[in-house]
Amino acid sequence: MEIFRHDGHLTNEALAALTSGAPLDETARLELAEHLAYCDLCLQRYTDVLALAPLLTAERSCQESLWRRIRARTVRIFTSRYAAAAAGVVLALTLVWGSGYGSIRLPELPEDRPTVSDGLRKWNESLDSAMSGVNEFFDGLSRQAPPAQGGK
Ligand SMILES: [Zn+2]
Repeated sequence: MEIFRHDGHLTNEALAALTSGAPLDETARLELAEHLAYCDLCLQRYTDVLALAPLLTAERSCQESLWRRIRARTVRIFTSRYAAAAAGVVLALTLVWGSGYGSIRLPELPEDRPTVSDGLRKWNESLDSAMSGVNEFFDGLSRQAPPAQGGK
């Protein structure tokens, strides 16, 4: 079998033998590999021949087993990450509620707490006392004042 053409490139036979896996001697394999390493034209021809070759199908698909492993790993990550956090929260809440610190106690209101009507009544009383003080002041002034001097 000829490996090289007259112009120095690989023959179609050699490329077909290489892609089909035909038995080649060690020297021919070495020459083919060396030529494909530096010749872009023959590398492109080899790639085109490879693209036309039928693709191998796997005897057993790994899709189902991969999905099963991904699901199992997701469940493991979820449980290890969030179950520990949830257990910590439950433990903390149990401790807080069990000790009584967390119970909600409303403040006790005094029985005699002031109301709005009490405030108004106190306001009226203080206003009345202030007005009576003012009246007493002016009454005192009028008593001390000398009689009217209109007669002069
Ligand atoms: Zn070439």
